[in-house]
Amino acid sequence: MQSAVREPVTAWVALGANLGDARQAVWQAFEALGRLPGTQLMARSRLYRSAPHLAQGPDFVNAVARLETRLSAPDLLDALQALETRAGRERPYVNAPRTLDLDLILFGQSRIDSPRLQVPHPRWRERAFVLLPLADLWPDCVSADDWAGVANQQIEVWPEDGP
Ligand code: ADP
Ligand code: MG
Repeated sequence: MQSAVREPVTAWVALGANLGDARQAVWQAFEALGRLPGTQLMARSRLYRSAPHLAQGPDFVNAVARLETRLSAPDLLDALQALETRAGRERPYVNAPRTLDLDLILFGQSRIDSPRLQVPHPRWRERAFVLLPLADLWPDCVSADDWAGVANQQIEVWPEDGP
């Protein structure tokens, strides 16, 4: 039997920005995530600075958020893309610099493989800019093999916390 109200699910979102005031964009995104319908921002990682990985442009600001949400995964993706658009995101080419990128990394135990949404995100274990902030909130999630795989990627904690 389907319940009328969805049970909340833990969702992990990776935030990234490398155009304009990227730090401000990430802080505003944390706040906006917590204001999505049926959604609470439970925890946020520290901010990190990473060199573009397989991409061009200025250094990135990266972070991870843990949400509790009653939205479905596709509805959450819609909401994330609406926030990207509101932040002025354009997609001139693959891996272009971006004012805000919000990727859904994990959605409870769900496995989704549709044309517009894959969960767990297919490349998250290959990205230091996801693993480090995720490990701030959930250290056991990252294995020794994961760390070894990203050892050559340049990333550091952003020197100051706060917007
Ligand atoms: P990037 O791979 O650099 O994050 P985009 O943000 O432009 O690129 O996303 C490209 C497409 O990836 C989106 O149109 C979206 O439908 C798709 N996508 C598939 N799975 C996910 C996911 N787990 N989180 C975010 N976007 C996803
Ligand atoms: Mg994206």
